[in-house]
Amino acid sequence: MHYLDNSATTKPCQAAVNAAVAAMTEDFGNPSSLHRLGLNAENIMTGARRTLSAQLTGSVADADSILFTSGATESNNLAILGSAEANRRAGHTILTTTIEHPSVLEPLAHLESEGWRVVKISPRADGSFSPDDFAAAADEDTVLVSVMLVNNEVGTILPVGEIARAVRRKNPKILVHCDAVQAFGKIPFKAASLGADLISVSGHKLYAPKGIGALYVRKGVRCRPRLYGGGQQRGFRPGTEPIPQIAAFAAAVADVRPRMEETLSRYLSLKDHLLRRLSACEEVLINSPAEAAPYIVNLSAGRVRSEVMLHFLEQEGIYVSSGSACSKGAKSHVLEAMKLPPARIDSALRVSFSRETTEADIDAFADRLLLGLKTLATAR
Ligand code: PMP
Repeated sequence: MHYLDNSATTKPCQAAVNAAVAAMTEDFGNPSSLHRLGLNAENIMTGARRTLSAQLTGSVADADSILFTSGATESNNLAILGSAEANRRAGHTILTTTIEHPSVLEPLAHLESEGWRVVKISPRADGSFSPDDFAAAADEDTVLVSVMLVNNEVGTILPVGEIARAVRRKNPKILVHCDAVQAFGKIPFKAASLGADLISVSGHKLYAPKGIGALYVRKGVRCRPRLYGGGQQRGFRPGTEPIPQIAAFAAAVADVRPRMEETLSRYLSLKDHLLRRLSACEEVLINSPAEAAPYIVNLSAGRVRSEVMLHFLEQEGIYVSSGSACSKGAKSHVLEAMKLPPARIDSALRVSFSRETTEADIDAFADRLLLGLKTLATAR
């Protein structure tokens, strides 16, 4: 098997599996219980908050700023709807981009239906974003700017820190939310370097199980809860905390941290290898911007439709994605925002690496893609 769909999800690492099993078999108490089992569970959660806080802010002192959620969809909804509600007196405009994940665009569409003004900034012709475009759109009425760090479909790296500084020159009160799901544990960043008040991350993109995410909320930032209940997580996100997933998430983060730099340079050479293997074929066009994150490569393969090529590759044991797994079959709003011609969008594939990916995986993909181009083109 050659699994090249790691931006959709990753295989949980052994450290994450072990941590989850230990939390289910030994430390299965409810962290709100006053007895020893409860305390053990609470300690696991406190330790996990510290691990995430160290990774996101550089300090364990900010551990209380980490809220565990069911995933980044919830984190994004909480960040956007919660901060809009808490700060509605400050204004009614939110800035974002045309290439955000649906879990950002949909809550924003909901706010728009309630009277908020949502301004979406588009990429420039080369796929990049200019902080000036955000500054030009920001004003006294702007409450929130929500910008992703790495795009999930094409790997664009957005200059979040520069955007935050540019908009705050216009209005220092603006809150900045960053969906950092596809960057977390892969590209080095800290909340301060992003200038972010709120940061969403997800476990399953980083070798932890599905169903666990986190939201960093900088101390002092006003954000209202979306759920009301037993008061867990300081009432911000009530509900009995899923200790097995939380333990696994922290174990996965601790596992990637010491190897981040080395893994990033491996991704660069794997991407280089892939591009070299495909460069001889004129029918293959690279859709990812030149400066994209090296572990996400979006390309269009001749005039063979994405799904046809995807299933051809699947028969050969190679797993990739057609654009984005989240939008199953729907035309990619990201490639449309990049103004690619419809035929190129229809044939787009996303290849995404994990730290397990090898040159042999890349070779298998390149060989079969080129074969597919020949055989499927003649069958057309
Ligand atoms: N944001 C981005 C950029 C993503 O790639 C994803 C997952 N596809 C999400 C948010 C949603 O994360 P989750 O699956 O944890 O809800």
